[in-house]
Amino acid sequence: MSGSIGEELAALRQDGLYRSLRLVAGSQGSRVVVDGREVLLLCSNNYLGLADHPQLKARAVAAVERYGTSSGASRLVSGTMELHAELEARIARFKGTEAALLFNSGYAANSGIIPALAGKGDLIFSDRLNHASIVDGSLLSRATLVRYPHNDLAALRRLLAKHPPTGRRLIVTDGVFSMDGDLAPLAELVALKREFGALLMVDDAHGSGVLGATGRGSAELLGVMDGVDIHMGTLGKAFGSYGAYAAASREIVAYLVNRARSFIFSTSLPPAVLAASLAAFDVVDSPEGARLRRQLAANSERFRGALAAAGFDTMGSTTQIVPLRVGEAAPAMEFTRLLLAEGFFVQGIRPPTVPAGTCRLRCTLMATHSPDDLDRAAAAIVRIGRQLGVI
Ligand SMILES: *Cc1c(COP(=O)(O)O)cnc(C)c1O
Repeated sequence: MSGSIGEELAALRQDGLYRSLRLVAGSQGSRVVVDGREVLLLCSNNYLGLADHPQLKARAVAAVERYGTSSGASRLVSGTMELHAELEARIARFKGTEAALLFNSGYAANSGIIPALAGKGDLIFSDRLNHASIVDGSLLSRATLVRYPHNDLAALRRLLAKHPPTGRRLIVTDGVFSMDGDLAPLAELVALKREFGALLMVDDAHGSGVLGATGRGSAELLGVMDGVDIHMGTLGKAFGSYGAYAAASREIVAYLVNRARSFIFSTSLPPAVLAASLAAFDVVDSPEGARLRRQLAANSERFRGALAAAGFDTMGSTTQIVPLRVGEAAPAMEFTRLLLAEGFFVQGIRPPTVPAGTCRLRCTLMATHSPDDLDRAAAAIVRIGRQLGVI
């Protein structure tokens, strides 16, 4: 840190790294109004389109009428409301674990769970491309943070073998990497955690509700639901609501209630949010949920296929997150600007969210995009990509 705040802001502007907020009108459907114009939304994590689903809205409204608008305090202070208990039971059933614990967001979950499970003298093995909230939780923990190259199992094995087996060892990974859309090799990670006596935590913010035969997430897709010690997931993405959870053994959940500071020292989720999440599980577990997952997978394949065929580097994506590598920040942001002018809202992603030189357009698909919308978006992206010399 150096110089005044004004100087730092000027430097960010000069480096093409300045961020500002855009006003979006209406709900987060597949089309939104940005700066007064309707555009196709290709940067929301509302993958199944549940954020304005009538069932979720009705349950949220009914919960407000019955339970009011706030939970009033941390649950250790003013108690667990019926809806917290009902939702935790539902999450545990969904993930096939003994228990689950709600957190107020994915960020709060990772910054609470990780420092609870690992402290001074312990070791955290973390994929280099893990989400920022995992990095922040690891730094808060005061454990030794060992970052391994992305999905590099040989490197992870060497690092596990090299560090003395004192204290606890936690291996933590995104299930679906949020900026790359590729999967962690969970079966191999389960084998490694068993061999080295570590705990395995999977942050499945982007897999839960979406991947696997019944939407249980990346661990279901890869056949290792029982091999994961802590299933972390969020409710603000595919589930169209807000909040997050750890699904784990009764012992781990009891431990988190006593040790996770973001759980202990924060007012718990309010009734409307809890009820919307419960309704989201009903939809995800219904034939409609299965149909939405199939549509999302088909949309993702169609869109990714078209752009890869045109010469874009889709960076190993196999999911509904489709990055298009651009390289430097300035052309990535120019790409975003030109697309918005044509009616397509796609975010350019820059450092510190991704490593320097790997700026990209991060396109996220929704089940509610029509094939026609996606074909038009892909055509515009290809045309502008050629114009900017990206392909
Ligand atoms: C979005 C995200 C989070 C944070 O979740 P919020 O509920 O938005 O705070 C954590 N981990 C990953 C991998 C994410 O993509």
